[in-house]
Amino acid sequence: MANVEKIIIIGSGPAAWTAAIYAARANLEPLVFEGALTEENRLAGTLPLGQLALTTEVENYPGFPAGNLEAYLDDAIDKNQRTMMAPHMKEGVSGPELMELMRQQARNFGTRVITQDIVEVDVDNHPFKLSASDGKAYGSLAVIVATGARANYLGLPSEEEYKNRGVSACAVCDGALPRFRGHPVAVVGGGDSSVEEADYLSKFASTVYMIHRRDELRASKIMAQRAMDNPKIEVLWSRTLAEVLGNDADGVTGVRLASTKGEPEVQKEVTGVFLAIGHTPNTAFLAGRLQMTEKKYIKWTTPGRTVTSVEGVFAAGDVADDYYRQAVTAAGTGCMAALDAERWLAAKGFH
Ligand SMILES: Cc1cc2nc3c(=O)[nH]c(=O)nc-3n(C[C@H](O)[C@H](O)[C@H](O)COP(=O)(O)OP(=O)(O)OC[C@H]3O[C@@H](n4cnc5c(N)ncnc54)[C@H](O)[C@@H]3O)c2cc1C
Repeated sequence: MANVEKIIIIGSGPAAWTAAIYAARANLEPLVFEGALTEENRLAGTLPLGQLALTTEVENYPGFPAGNLEAYLDDAIDKNQRTMMAPHMKEGVSGPELMELMRQQARNFGTRVITQDIVEVDVDNHPFKLSASDGKAYGSLAVIVATGARANYLGLPSEEEYKNRGVSACAVCDGALPRFRGHPVAVVGGGDSSVEEADYLSKFASTVYMIHRRDELRASKIMAQRAMDNPKIEVLWSRTLAEVLGNDADGVTGVRLASTKGEPEVQKEVTGVFLAIGHTPNTAFLAGRLQMTEKKYIKWTTPGRTVTSVEGVFAAGDVADDYYRQAVTAAGTGCMAALDAERWLAAKGFH
């Protein structure tokens, strides 16, 4: 193990880059492992820059309104004040653009970036030891884990083909996009989160078909009742998604549904298909060295803090949050983790 870093940040979504911005500005000289550019990561959806780099428009990240920013500024800010400001001529931001900007902002403050995965951690001894996919080992006084999670997909070729053209794994992120407004959409799943997704989508869509492979919802009674009471939600019982239908010009136009009870296939016209079959946190490399929840998310051990079961190791973003799962919440906890780490390093006399 060569040098010992003050802080290593593992991950490359909004949580990691926000943590890096704060850590760098606090003179902690952060080193970020942003993940490796491998085929395995591409297939898993865990390439550098995280989940947001897999999407197109981002309409809910504060500070980046969609459309012509110049017109928005003209409309939102008093004319007298506006004339004193420098002009802006940019359009709204896309996911990959937003992530590149966050990365650049972290680098502007001196963050160093290594494009490798961390494949193993030893947090039983201090300084902590992290092993990277290039075979090298790195020491660090503090660590922030911000490796995120990935949405689960069924793995159908047609699902892959229409990702971002009607196929989505995040209703809160994409539900309000014009292609879904006033049109029927489908939600695949039957748990609490799929009812939440369907309920949310019903604010925009004309009808929400819930595609569920059983003949009763897995969701809690209260959530199942919420689905039943919503006149826009129609549950298609004992059905599985066989194929997403569509074409190049329109993206998703429908779904072909198989039956789990031997009934004939049916087709439904929809402009969107939302997968709500859970997420997988990127925590396998931790091999249980930190306390985890039942679903293998890292456990925050103190309410309102980003501390984990190991002193000096902090967690931020979706890797520790299976509830909010938004870029802005990930960025928020990334900021918290950097501040928590800085204060811990100072309290220990390391910084
Ligand atoms: C299709 C889609 C659309 C979305 N749209 C929106 C939206 O419009 N607005 C919104 O707020 N949210 C949206 N989200 C959710 C949002 O993207 C996530 O909440 C957010 O990206 C979580 O950020 P994170 O920092 O926790 O990590 P992630 O974005 O999950 O990124 C973590 C990254 O860390 C890296 N990593 C993982 N393991 C390792 C390792 N062992 N070593 C090194 N690096 C590693 C990988 O590159 C991984 O991708 C969307 C999600 C999806 C899937």
